[in-house]
Amino acid sequence: SPSEEYAARLAVQSSAQEKYYEEPMQMERGWRHHLVDTDGRSYVDLVNNVAGLGHSHPGVRDAASRQLGLLNTNSRFLYRELGEYAQRLADLAPEGLDTVLFVNSGSEAVDLALKLARAASGRPEVAALREAYHGWTAGADAVTTSAYDSPHALESLPGWVKVLDVPHPLRGAYTGDDAGARYAADAAAALAGWADTGTPVGAFICESVLGNAGGVLLPEDYLAGVYEAVRAQGGLCIADEVQVGFGRMGSHFWGFELQGVTPDLITIAKPMGNGFPIGAVITRREIAEALGREGMFFSSAGGSPLSCAVGQAVLDAMEAEDLQGNAQRVGERLRAGLQGLVAKHRLASMVHGAGLYLGLELVRDERTLEPAAAETAAICERLRELGVIVQPTSERQNVLKIKPPLCLDEASADFAVAQIDRVLSEGW
Ligand code: PMP
Repeated sequence: SPSEEYAARLAVQSSAQEKYYEEPMQMERGWRHHLVDTDGRSYVDLVNNVAGLGHSHPGVRDAASRQLGLLNTNSRFLYRELGEYAQRLADLAPEGLDTVLFVNSGSEAVDLALKLARAASGRPEVAALREAYHGWTAGADAVTTSAYDSPHALESLPGWVKVLDVPHPLRGAYTGDDAGARYAADAAAALAGWADTGTPVGAFICESVLGNAGGVLLPEDYLAGVYEAVRAQGGLCIADEVQVGFGRMGSHFWGFELQGVTPDLITIAKPMGNGFPIGAVITRREIAEALGREGMFFSSAGGSPLSCAVGQAVLDAMEAEDLQGNAQRVGERLRAGLQGLVAKHRLASMVHGAGLYLGLELVRDERTLEPAAAETAAICERLRELGVIVQPTSERQNVLKIKPPLCLDEASADFAVAQIDRVLSEGW
């Protein structure tokens, strides 16, 4: 029976593997920005920034099957696929970031970036922001400070992790035009304090838009100020672009471009393979060389001919379909629609983000900013009934996280806003 099948699917999984919804959905297939469940119901997918091109993209399917039938080995050999793909990624990165190391996921990319930065700077200490999520592997987990994603993170912080305040536009200490400079000055003071006690940081890691904090845009001049303070004490700056980079911002290919900065290391993964596992670190040659002699880094499947062929097909489709341009156009329309809901509904308090990475923050009281977490979960359940998949995010679980495939069209964006409007009108 369907319910036995359902129970069997859950029984073999750890309950730590989070599922969307009280009763998890059973998915059958996907197409563009639509997912279809086992009952044949179709949904607009607003949560999947991994399938950046859209689900089941034929270009990716064809590239993968062609390469599987031709060659799939590892990076201890030279082959055309890795050379070409790495060159394309380096061409997309700022000048000077000309060396690419391949892994299989975002967590691995973060671990490798930390390892490289610590080796190159000669210092183990790393500064990260509060409310951050950077992955589940040991290094990435250590710099994950979100009380939701890692409830004991702050009590069990390894000695080498230093935590800086999150510059939150709604909940932080500063607002106004100079907020970024003031937050950066606080960060510089904290960094100087650690340096004074003999632990200057070797690296600073930060998302360029704070994805897991709710799609929070950093205030103007913030990263420039923090990067300067980190570099002044000999540290390197890592931009974690796993969630927000790769065209999703619409106006720019990388999230850090919104802040006008150039990192020393970039981590990327999720959208690179449109669901196929690919991750990478892009950095400067001298940082990539810091690990030591040849043979100090190897990933069995990282940079395989298969993953590189898929990666190239993803970039081809992004260009051919102008998905970054679409992210800007549809993202602006979606943002305007959500902004209209802020004006109209008591719960809706602020729209975060840019391009097709947006967050709608829901609060019970504009004055106390009490997070509307239970309401956010219930609203997501209602939207599921109405054919829209959207999920809560942030440490407080009170932000509707909107990061659809980049192919989202205007009609689906309007449909999504109309459904959110309808649900918010239901008297919360
Ligand atoms: N960095 C950031 C900013 C992320 O959001 C994530 C995943 N959500 C990761 C790293 C880890 O990526 P993965 O799940 O591919 O290991």
